Amino acid sequence: MCIFCKIVKGEIPNQTILEDENFLAFNDINPTRKIHVLIIPKEHYESFDVVPAQVMSGMTTFIQKVAEKLDVKKSGYRLITNIGDHGGQEVHHLHFHLIGGEPAGRLVR
Ligand code: 5GP
Ligand code: ZN
Repeated sequence: MCIFCKIVKGEIPNQTILEDENFLAFNDINPTRKIHVLIIPKEHYESFDVVPAQVMSGMTTFIQKVAEKLDVKKSGYRLITNIGDHGGQEVHHLHFHLIGGEPAGRLVR
């Protein structure tokens, strides 16, 4: 079972920001900005590349609620999902990084 599925099952502890029946948002263990939250569907999908559009529809609403709860809607935030090797994906369970609380900086080198 993957590491995020273990977090969903409660086998690995997490700092939960928001949760509902289908989605979970929790603090990244190794934050890159003041706010660095991971947002996942509870069901395992390898990446954005294979997730059904229907699941993404719920995910969109959930992410917007997480942004609301983190109070970053005014200041702005960055949303990233890494896909596969060249995307730099390390955990192969779909997740979005919500990064904020300070300027994110340029995305490209
Ligand atoms: P990726 O490179 O796959 O997009 O990002 C994986 C993210 O998961 C990394 O930012 C890493 O810090 C985070 N991470 C890995 N293992 C754990 C864990 O056990 N708990 C939490 N909260 N975050 C994790
Ligand atoms: Zn998983």
